[in-house]
Amino acid sequence: MALTESVPTAAPPAHEGILRRQSLRESAARTYARSLPIVPVRARGLTIEGADGRRYLDCLSGAGTLALGHNHPVVLEAIRTVLDSGAPLHILDLATPVKDAFITELFATLPKELAEKGRIQFCGPAGTDAVEAAFTLVRTATGREGLMAFSGAYHGMTAQALAASGGARHTSVVRLPYPYDYRCPFGTGGERGAELAARWTRSLLDDQKSGVPGPAGMILEPVQGEGGVIPAPDSWLRRMRELTAERRIPLIVDEVQTGVGRTGAFWAIEHSGIVPDVLVLSKAIGGSLPLAVIVYREELDAWQPGAHAGTFRGNQLAMAAGRATLAYVRENGLDRRAGELGARMHARLTDLAAAHDCIGDVRGRGLMLGVEIVDREAEADATGARPADPRLAAAVQHACLDRGLIVELGGRHSAVVRLLPPLTITDEQADAILDRLADALMAAVRTTPGPMGPSPTTTRGISP
Ligand code: PMP
Repeated sequence: MALTESVPTAAPPAHEGILRRQSLRESAARTYARSLPIVPVRARGLTIEGADGRRYLDCLSGAGTLALGHNHPVVLEAIRTVLDSGAPLHILDLATPVKDAFITELFATLPKELAEKGRIQFCGPAGTDAVEAAFTLVRTATGREGLMAFSGAYHGMTAQALAASGGARHTSVVRLPYPYDYRCPFGTGGERGAELAARWTRSLLDDQKSGVPGPAGMILEPVQGEGGVIPAPDSWLRRMRELTAERRIPLIVDEVQTGVGRTGAFWAIEHSGIVPDVLVLSKAIGGSLPLAVIVYREELDAWQPGAHAGTFRGNQLAMAAGRATLAYVRENGLDRRAGELGARMHARLTDLAAAHDCIGDVRGRGLMLGVEIVDREAEADATGARPADPRLAAAVQHACLDRGLIVELGGRHSAVVRLLPPLTITDEQADAILDRLADALMAAVRTTPGPMGPSPTTTRGISP
């Protein structure tokens, strides 16, 4: 399918009608559709073509799902093979050759301790389901209830996953400081800030009067994604591993967004060398189709049959697409490629930041990059941070779309422009993305008043 072909059936009026009907019929809770008013009809690799005939470079990648971009040939081939084989598409949690091959491929990518002595539970079908399963698993294994999670985290929208996320409203989950270098809660930043965050965690665990009873588990993201692309220092991750291991608290690492090469290693835990007790996986492991699993140490396997059930845990097409994706990333060293290209893009974004006061921070790991947009007129605080400017960030996102670039906003104030391109992009495509972003940034700065100015009507933000 060449994207240069015309789209005779998709003229602009159809596009406008679809968008109009969407706003009339779909929920007020819809998210991406608000800030990205496009009607995708075809897609390949980095590119999406809209019903209006316009093409977009997609740096949202299904919220970090599309490791190989849209409709990669190996993914399509894997799906077609299952369809043509006559295999059942729905199998609950029964064994099949497709599932067996997926598990073998997945385990081949895991750290030795998990690959050799790990168990897998298919959860269905979203990342949040796997987070719920992880909590049930550790609660059953430890006989304890409480959980520890981090400020700014995002683990999903089901009740317990939401309770462990930064947006929680009512929760018994104990909140710990995440090492957010640019807005360090301890006012120091750097290794020192991370060290103080780790000390706070240790004191809560060891102080008999901290008010924190022994938890069933601790959950963390190696790089907070929705929280604003915040990579945790490797030394801090190792401290969390030590603290939890010494106290026999299961450590749950949520690699739903960081997995499958995204950060420059196949799994983000490889950077620090830690091995969690439970790994939560979704998004890219399904090769663009819904699939979610947890892999955990067999000692934790104390739950009863049916402790985490669900009708949709046997998606054969997702397992085939996922197996093909995992194998392609591994065989082609796309994790290394993501690390190298990500470092180059990071360097170019840092140059852009040097020329624009409205960029407070550039951060990320591999091809998970974030640019924090700040109030260019405000005074910096003692650590050099300035207040977020969500209105300018929304204007940048809007200007990107005008230039045919799809980017996501994230972070505490929806002021972090996020780039999550497929791991397959070429150097030229990376340059095109950054050129469009730089141009959009300049246009948004020209047309958007500072946060104290009048409200523009075009401002839109999205929540994770
Ligand atoms: N964990 C992380 C780290 C995520 O980024 C997300 C989704 N953005 C989830 C869990 C939830 O996944 P899902 O939306 O598939 O439920």
